[in-house]
Amino acid sequence: MAAERIYLDHAATTPVAAEVTRAMMPYFGEDYGNPSSVHYWGQRADHALSSARRQIADILGCLPGEIVFTSCGSESNNLALRGAAMAARVAAGGNHLVVTAIEHHAVFNTACQLRDLYGFELTVLPVDQFGLVSLDSVAGAIRTDTIMVSVMYANNEIGSVQPISEIAELTRSQGVLLHTDAVQAASQLSLNVEVLGVDMMSLGAHKFYGPKGVGALYVRQGVSVEPALTGGGQEQGLRAGTYNVPLIIGMASALQVTSERKERDNQKFARHRDMLINGILLNIPYARLTGHPERRLPNNASFVFHGVDGNEMIMALDLAGVAAGSGSACKTGSPMASGVLLALGLDAEWALGSLRLTVGRGTTDAEIEHIQEMMPPLIAQLRNG
Ligand SMILES: *Cc1c(COP(=O)(O)O)cnc(C)c1O
Repeated sequence: MAAERIYLDHAATTPVAAEVTRAMMPYFGEDYGNPSSVHYWGQRADHALSSARRQIADILGCLPGEIVFTSCGSESNNLALRGAAMAARVAAGGNHLVVTAIEHHAVFNTACQLRDLYGFELTVLPVDQFGLVSLDSVAGAIRTDTIMVSVMYANNEIGSVQPISEIAELTRSQGVLLHTDAVQAASQLSLNVEVLGVDMMSLGAHKFYGPKGVGALYVRQGVSVEPALTGGGQEQGLRAGTYNVPLIIGMASALQVTSERKERDNQKFARHRDMLINGILLNIPYARLTGHPERRLPNNASFVFHGVDGNEMIMALDLAGVAAGSGSACKTGSPMASGVLLALGLDAEWALGSLRLTVGRGTTDAEIEHIQEMMPPLIAQLRNG
């Protein structure tokens, strides 16, 4: 038994890095000004806000004015989809949206609401058994009235990484906007918007060792977006509300730290991920890897186990001191297979037994070895009921 708890749910959230906490502290204290005020305190806050914006823009390879600060990745996704759809409606510029079957709910449910309440048409693109969307299916979905395509950069459940820059070439040649949900990808993949070729990109700080409650949306200059939150003129009129200065400073600091240590982090993540994948597939019968074997996030090891109840598995792991994630949601007592796993073509007997282990900066070799040892008997016990 491990005396200490092991956290392998970095896809759900990450701890705030110590340097990020330090960077934020003055803005919870003496530097409390509102950046919109013209006086001394306002100017100090405005100066800090501008440097945070510039820092983030440098990492994304965009202009500071192309960054919109939001409250989370979900809000960024909402603003991208709803904002672009509404702007197209205002300009009579199309009525059709395209998303993939494995988008995060913040994209998927927003697209469904635009269809169900606002009369937009929606195409949901299938994915293959590895969770990848094909260029052909994107090309086939685009119509003359298509406003935008939204394809997530990396999937939060199975870690599959989509060919965003290839998709961008396609959407660009058709004059259609491309949005990507990069919330899960940001801790590990390159975020340069010119290389990716996207028109909009969502980020959320708590997935890359920043604070909860803050996110950003990149909006390429010239892309029309209607505000999702109306009020004051903050963020080029796209997102009203007094700036959350400390958290924005924290997000910039977290992104800076992440971009500096990304290469080193990814090497360690991938080594731990592969230890988990090899150990589990080798020693547990009727276990499968979910997501793509190579085109996947360095920190994501996700599986399905035939005939195992995923929620029971997560609870048994928690009792054993291990925090893991699962694709199935069971808040009401009746287990439901995750839409992502069903989209891969898995049947319920497999899809209900899902497990996601996501490693992080603090993960140690000893922790991974402990998981390798404890998993086979734990799965056997769950199968024997
Ligand atoms: C976590 C996550 C979100 C939601 O971000 P929040 O900041 O928690 O609102 C959206 N998309 C993906 C892929 C995520 O992993």
